[in-house]
Amino acid sequence: MTRDLLTIVVAAFNEAQALPLLHPRLRAVLDTMPDVESRVLYIDDGSRDATWEVLQHLATQDPRVALLRLSRNFGKEAALTAGLDHVDAGAALILDADGQDPPELIPQFVARWREGFDDVHGTRIEREGEGWLKRGTAHVFYRVIGRLSHTPIPADTGDFRLLSPRSLAALRQLRERHRFMKGLFGWVGFNSVAIPYHREARSAGASKFNFWRLWNFALEGITSFSTAPLRLATYLGLITAAVAFVYALWIVIKAMLWGDPVAGWPTMMAVILFLGGVQLIALGLIGEYLGRLYLEAKQRPLYLVDAWKPAAGVFSSRQ
Ligand code: UDP
Ligand code: MG
Repeated sequence: MTRDLLTIVVAAFNEAQALPLLHPRLRAVLDTMPDVESRVLYIDDGSRDATWEVLQHLATQDPRVALLRLSRNFGKEAALTAGLDHVDAGAALILDADGQDPPELIPQFVARWREGFDDVHGTRIEREGEGWLKRGTAHVFYRVIGRLSHTPIPADTGDFRLLSPRSLAALRQLRERHRFMKGLFGWVGFNSVAIPYHREARSAGASKFNFWRLWNFALEGITSFSTAPLRLATYLGLITAAVAFVYALWIVIKAMLWGDPVAGWPTMMAVILFLGGVQLIALGLIGEYLGRLYLEAKQRPLYLVDAWKPAAGVFSSRQ
């Protein structure tokens, strides 16, 4: 009987405190699944603390651990891409290093995969340790992007998911530089299923995503998966033009009927400022897309690898 192959992919940026808590949990869970040949691939995303030393220590203790170190901090999305690129066989399961995605659920993910699902993703029922503002904005974000994008992006779903070998292969073909992973997973499609779970609070350390980063992340998501804002600019222009036309007509008629006793400074200013504002918004929107096109056109690699250490025990069979 060939055993199923599974690699747990964990991106870590300054997680020296959280990793020693995560790994024993992970190991305990993997030990309960003797019918799965498992690996744990940690990606050090250019950490500035002792993360790499901690990881190397874990690797000497556990032959299942593989390590990848990027040349600098490329961000979570690039780190995950690097990790998934290095999974050469079997399925991959993405997990946060801070213990917010409970490893204890892995057997459930694997069970669904065995039922034939290609994309098994965790959907948060509750987010502990996160303020109402973060929860509220996240809620709004998922609703907005759900309406704007033609790609199905399940709400309240993070990167906690298992990808079958074929959806992994499909994902690898998407080499865009602006990587909004949730959208990319949705774009791939195949059979997907959600597993509801309670998102725990961070085990140690602080979140790497402040509001500014989340805002940019949201912009990334919307511009990567929808051109609706460009369409919006068109409609905004059309509406403004229509209103301006009616207003101009009214001014002309008024002048013909009652004469023009040169007033109109306030209206003039209001119109100029309004039109200027609308034009700047439209230009800004075009600029957002143009900037992304520019970065895309450079065709730089998505990440650079500094060090790669495969697991000591090699997969016994290949799928
Ligand atoms: N992460 C990363 N590179 C970064 C930022 C974050 O690899 O530049 C990792 C981080 O170590 C963690 C995961 O991404 O494993 C989620 O980050 P975090 O917990 O800070 O985000 P939150 O859960 O608050 O959204
Ligand atoms: Mg977290």
